[in-house]
Amino acid sequence: MSDSSIPTLSTWVEVPKNSDFTIYNLPFGVFKNKKLNPRIGIAIGDKIVDLSILDQEGFFSSLFLPEGVFIKDSLNDLISLGKAQTKKIRERVQQLLLAENGELRDHSARGKVMVNRKEAEMLMPVKIGDYTDFYSSIEHATNVGKMFRDPENALLPNWKHLPVGYHGRASSIVVSGTPIHRPKGQFKDPDMEKPAFGPSRRLDFELELAFITGRSTKLGDSVEADEAEDYIFGFVLFNDWSARDIQAWEYVPLGPFLGKNFGSSISPWVVTLEALEPFRVQGPLQEPEVLDYLKCKGTHSFDINLEVYIQPEGKKSSKVCSSNFKYMYWNIAQQLAHHTVNGCNINVGDLMASGTISGSAEDSFGSMLELSWKGTKPVKLEDGEERKFIEDGDTVIMKGFAEREGIRVGFGEVSSQILPAK
Ligand code: CA
Repeated sequence: MSDSSIPTLSTWVEVPKNSDFTIYNLPFGVFKNKKLNPRIGIAIGDKIVDLSILDQEGFFSSLFLPEGVFIKDSLNDLISLGKAQTKKIRERVQQLLLAENGELRDHSARGKVMVNRKEAEMLMPVKIGDYTDFYSSIEHATNVGKMFRDPENALLPNWKHLPVGYHGRASSIVVSGTPIHRPKGQFKDPDMEKPAFGPSRRLDFELELAFITGRSTKLGDSVEADEAEDYIFGFVLFNDWSARDIQAWEYVPLGPFLGKNFGSSISPWVVTLEALEPFRVQGPLQEPEVLDYLKCKGTHSFDINLEVYIQPEGKKSSKVCSSNFKYMYWNIAQQLAHHTVNGCNINVGDLMASGTISGSAEDSFGSMLELSWKGTKPVKLEDGEERKFIEDGDTVIMKGFAEREGIRVGFGEVSSQILPAK
């Protein structure tokens, strides 16, 4: 927990300074390369630990794992083993990588186990069953309310009483590196007499973190807020691409649809809840008091730095946003408790996104909509470029990392380029 110091660990693996993938992190992902078919690995430094080889060589023999559990093209079956098992797998790998441990370091299979990350292609880590998007940042919800409704009453009356969310679309969630075509659709700006159709003119990103569920529930059952974290396996960075012009015209009265479902991008490495333990912090004060089913003991917010960069084609990248996951008004335990309080069942591999994570400072806003204030204040980039929204050829890169006492646990990045409309 955050009030105690983190025990120092060192590894025999060379980990570059400022690497997100330290001995303290050890995130799970799915990869392949020219020689290897899809399989599950754990990242450390510039390497991937091939868990299937470790398994073949008997390093997990005391865990009695099902045969071939790491030769999979998703983490779902592994996650389904339950937190007790996945925790032991990660702890065993951590033990094998410790500087003082010679078991793997001096083993003849070491070369086969340690795969170069540069030569690997990262795949979608999880087969996502259902995707839910929350709207849990008070700063984001306030900014949007100010722009589109009433600056005096920016938050709708329900906002502080429940974590607002909607059901998104899982089919179009893609892994980092997958380009996205600019969506086409209907829009009708306030100054237009009738709607028009064409490529979106206000394409935006949304800076989010998403958690992946690690346990299923039965239809009719609910998850208590105090047990919610037992149902959460880990986190990824999440760019929830949004076409603001399509969204503004279509969303009344049922909410987001084609302005959102053309693509969302995730980072390939799933950082476990265990790795984020040392970075727990108190969340914002909730006033008015929430209903009993949303109350939870302990801290469920995390101090995770988040950054967004825009890189125009052939040019330098510019940082346009620095935010933090700790700003979220509603925490993950409350989100999951609320999601299931009516008996809605969840499955292993569901993805629940935070909603755009904005802070109070102008450079901490997690979308172009807010950064350029609806396109009225262009954002300056390096090389003399400026942006109100995202243009064709632009790559949007999101990074996230937690750091304390010189110890770093990070997500790597989610990066995707926008291609012209098809
Ligand atoms: Ca969103």
